[in-house]
Formats: sequence, C-alpha cells, structure tokens
Amino acid sequence: HHAKEKGENSVVVYENPSLQSQEMILKTDLKYAIKKGELEVVYQPQLCVKRSQIVGFEALIRWHHSKYGLISPGDFITYAESTGYINKMTKWMMKQVCESIVKFASMESQQLSFSVNISFNQLLKENFMDELLEIINAHDIPPEQICFEITENIKLYSLEEVAEKIHYLKRAGIKLAIDDFGEGYFSFSDLAKIEADAVKLSKSFIDQYEKENMKVILVSMVKMIHKLGMEVVVEGVEKKEQLQLLKEIKANLIQGYYISKPMSFAITKETMLEKMEKMQEKGKLSS
Ligand code: C2E
Ligand code: MG
Ligand code: MG
Ligand code: MG
Repeated sequence: HHAKEKGENSVVVYENPSLQSQEMILKTDLKYAIKKGELEVVYQPQLCVKRSQIVGFEALIRWHHSKYGLISPGDFITYAESTGYINKMTKWMMKQVCESIVKFASMESQQLSFSVNISFNQLLKENFMDELLEIINAHDIPPEQICFEITENIKLYSLEEVAEKIHYLKRAGIKLAIDDFGEGYFSFSDLAKIEADAVKLSKSFIDQYEKENMKVILVSMVKMIHKLGMEVVVEGVEKKEQLQLLKEIKANLIQGYYISKPMSFAITKETMLEKMEKMQEKGKLSS
C-alpha cells in the first residue's frame, strides 16, 4: 500500500478485514463525512520563484475518520469518484475555499490565487462547472482569483470536448492548470490545443533533479511550456538545491515541503502573514 510514500502522517487503512470490505466501509462512511464534520481543507502555499513571494494556495482535502484517523486523498478520492460523492465534496470544498478567501481578503496588496482540484469527469459533467461558478459568484469573488487544477486520469475522452470546456471556463474568467503533467496520457500536442494558464509538472521530474538527463528534460519542458504561453508550476520541491535549479531554469511557481506543507487556515490573518513572511525569506535562498 502506498499511504507511506505520500510523506504525510496518513494511516495505513487496510489492516484486518479483507481489502474489499474495507473499501465498502470507506465508501459507506464517506457518504456521511461532510455531515459529521470529518472533512477539512488544507492549503499549500505557492511561491513565485522570481519575486520570492507567496502568490497563492492550493486547496487539498483531508478526511479525519473517527476510527481510522487521517486518511489522505490518494486513499479515498477514487472511492468518492466511483460513488459520485466527489461532486458533493467538490461543491463543499468550493464553498470552504470561498469563505477562506473572504476571511483573508486584502491580506496582501496583491490578490492571492486559490487552486481547487477538479476531477476530469467533473469537467466534462453537464452543468457541474456552472454549479461551481455559481458558488464563486455568490461569494462575490472575482473568478480570476480561482484556478481549477485538472488531472487527466481517464484514457477515453475527446480532446475537443475538453478544449471546449476549458474555453468555457476561460470565458468565465477562471484560471486553469493541467496537474501532474508527464504522468498521464496528456501530450505536448494536447497542450497546444487547450487554453490552460499553467502546467504543473509531475513531482517525478524534480525528484530526479540530480540526474543530468532529467535536468535536460526539465529545462526543455520549461522552455516549451513557456513558448506555448503558459506558466510552469513545480510541485514536490523539498530541497534548497531543487529550488536553486528551478530558479536557474526560470520555472514560475513552486510548491513543496521546502516552503511549507499544506496547512490549516484556522489561524488569524496576523499569524498567516507572519508565516508567509518566513516562507518568502526561505524562498530567497540567501542563507
Ligand atoms: P495534487 O493535486 O497533485 O497535489 C499535490 C500533492 O503533493 C498533495 O498531496 C501535496 O500534499 C503533495 N505535496 C506537496 N508538496 C510536496 C512535497 O514537497 N513532497 C511530497 N512528498 N509531497 C508533496 P495530497 O494532499 O495527499 O493530495 C494527493 C492528490 O489527491 C492530489 O494531487 C489531488 O490529485 C488529489 N486531491 C486532493 N484534494 C482533492 C480534491 O479536493 N479534489 C480532487 N478531485 N482531488 C483532490
Ligand atoms: Mg493539484
Ligand atoms: Mg492531481
Ligand atoms: Mg499534482
């Protein structure tokens, strides 16, 4: 089981009962997770490499199960997708994010952006994007402040349909990022056909930053993505040396444990500003 590799304190869910019955239990319990107040949104800061400034946050879901403890999304998102609960969850998530934006409004002179992960099926689901747009509107939040991160994780889809949906969101003002690029079936020529604002590189590339060949790939990918008119976001940055390299090759944004793990927003604005100050110092690489 891969819970350990995630690098967070997630519990190994499958212990005694058979794998199948555990899956059944989780699927059933998940249905009540919002009602029971077991879901939480945590936020991971995104640093602009050039300016060494926190420019946004990615919202990530956490499930605090009454019996199993913390379960990370990698261990339940597929269940949420297969039962359809993901739709309820994403709307709940969108509301939480909007409330956080309102709470931390005018925190910085410059507006912070907030990213929300959207499943591929949801992008293609009739009316679902409108439901999310309505939530954003209801909170009076400029759509430009929201970014949808899309991970292409199904094999069969029509790229035209995807491009059309993305175009629709762009017209509504939403920012768009292609998540985990390099892991799935999405190709460079696919990128050329859609109006995304950013590409988030799969962590596997920066993980192997010490290999010369991987550096060549990183440099080339950053150049290509820039030439396509999109920003490059690198996640999974854990070391100073990785940030140094990404600075050299002019990646735009980074996310990773080196700057900060995803964190709870149950803190005051002042505490948040202090934390951001420290992260920005780290990003300067001066020490
Ligand atoms: P993702 O969207 O690619 O998010 C990045 C993942 O990498 C997060 O894991 C984050 O905590 C982790 N990460 C960030 N920096 C580092 C680092 O320096 N080192 C390491 N080892 N990991 C790092 P998380 O929160 O467990 O989420 C896993 C995946 O679950 C996400 O990948 C996303 O695809 C999915 N997910 C999370 N929340 C949601 C959600 O609300 N809706 C949907 N549809 N999917 C979600
Ligand atoms: Mg993401
Ligand atoms: Mg993803
Ligand atoms: Mg990713």
